[in-house]
Amino acid sequence: MGKISMASIAASIVMGAGWVLPGQARAQAGSSKPLRAIEGKLLEGAHGPQLQTGSKFYSLTSDSPSLLHTLSDPRLRLRDVKLEGREKPDGQFEVAHLFTVKNGKLYKVRYYCNVCNIVAQEPGPCVCCQRPTELEEIPLKEVTPDTIVVP
Ligand SMILES: [Zn+2]
Repeated sequence: MGKISMASIAASIVMGAGWVLPGQARAQAGSSKPLRAIEGKLLEGAHGPQLQTGSKFYSLTSDSPSLLHTLSDPRLRLRDVKLEGREKPDGQFEVAHLFTVKNGKLYKVRYYCNVCNIVAQEPGPCVCCQRPTELEEIPLKEVTPDTIVVP
């Protein structure tokens, strides 16, 4: 790391106002990188969920199991979504936040059991009655810090 920094400094001096390398140094910092947003269609690839933006395909991963399960929900397949996250060194996109997009508006997702009035943050049977939960989309402007939604 120290070796790279020295090289960056030396290269920066040589390159003058170019300042290309400081950006690369930030990329190595990993989680301190600011979140980036990508928008496209949610697909299911051979090795998990993918996002297609134009001709580019991102393999999706997440630290959050509930978010990862939601990204693989067949009900969201082929839907337009906006993802906020970070591109990992291996090329995978690590998703931190999921939004669905309808008519240009953003929504947050949650799962709901009408019988028990219980909200869940990932697909699957209701924790109480075991019946299937329903996918619900909440307009982003109605989401407050207290609203239980998929990250
Ligand atoms: Zn229930």
